[in-house]
Amino acid sequence: FAVLDPTRRLAVDVIDRYESAAASSRRVVSLLRSDQRIDERPDAPDLAVEAGAVEYDGVSFAYSGADTPAIDDVSLSVDGGAFVGVVGPTGAGKSTLLKLLFRLYDPDAGTVRIDGRDVSAVTLSSLRRGVGYVSQDPFLFPGTVAENVAYAEADPDREAVVDAARLAGADEFVRTLPDGYDTEVGERGASLSGGQRQRLALARALFVDPPILVLDEATSHVDNETGAEIRRCLRAMAGDRTVFAVAHRLSTVRDADRILVVEDGRLVEDGCHEDLVATGGTYARLWRTQIGAVTAADGGGGEKTAP
Ligand code: ATP
Repeated sequence: FAVLDPTRRLAVDVIDRYESAAASSRRVVSLLRSDQRIDERPDAPDLAVEAGAVEYDGVSFAYSGADTPAIDDVSLSVDGGAFVGVVGPTGAGKSTLLKLLFRLYDPDAGTVRIDGRDVSAVTLSSLRRGVGYVSQDPFLFPGTVAENVAYAEADPDREAVVDAARLAGADEFVRTLPDGYDTEVGERGASLSGGQRQRLALARALFVDPPILVLDEATSHVDNETGAEIRRCLRAMAGDRTVFAVAHRLSTVRDADRILVVEDGRLVEDGCHEDLVATGGTYARLWRTQIGAVTAADGGGGEKTAP
């Protein structure tokens, strides 16, 4: 190595840094390339949801880099307006299955349809308007409660905000906050409990009044009281909507029209609570385990309560 004068050394250093920056940006680009992109077809029409019927036809999906598919050849058909529970062991693929409905990911094989339309053939904006989603860990941005509920609109009608909150079972606690709907919720809603955040997120989804709603129940941080309250309002807010509710506590979806049981990315059982318990399969086993846990928490005595 020749000894470089300071100016040249600086130049080499800059080039070196540029090279490594370029290399890492190439890596990023190739990562993005290998990762799936959600594209909208040119001239894609809007989706106009009518009945809200949902169909999965031979759908498989693997996360990039994963050895096994998260969803493995799932076919199902759900009538518009149905209330559908989705249950199964942790990591079974429940959330992933529903994320394919509004194209958070696209399947590697098979087709997802809403009212007979392939979801990948319509505009993303119309699809996302048609399918409301409440995630396990909903994001609240710094702003007031009302702004968080109505973030889809610049100048929201307060009455519509309150209606959505009421339907989501949030109105009662919002009224106890210092400034009601004008209370600042802080970054990530730090001053609210997990259950309260979920209810605000549900209110946000209901504010848009989507014909199809996907609810991903949080595994933790929803206490029993909140769970019971969510259960109570689930039916009320379902109305004519098609609702998919991922549930960790089976009692949340005990009354569902249909319960889909997912295990290892496959749809292993499909039916109402009574039928599934009678079948004696995965659902019956999960149900017995949860009843056992509740009974044990009660000290093993007393009447058996639903989990
Ligand atoms: P839980 O009940 O714990 O919420 P789940 O049934 O909803 O689980 P998914 O979250 O759909 O299961 O996950 C299915 C599988 O895909 C799991 O093995 C999980 O680790 C994996 N997975 C989920 N999200 C991702 C991701 N973004 N990238 C890679 N793998 C993922």
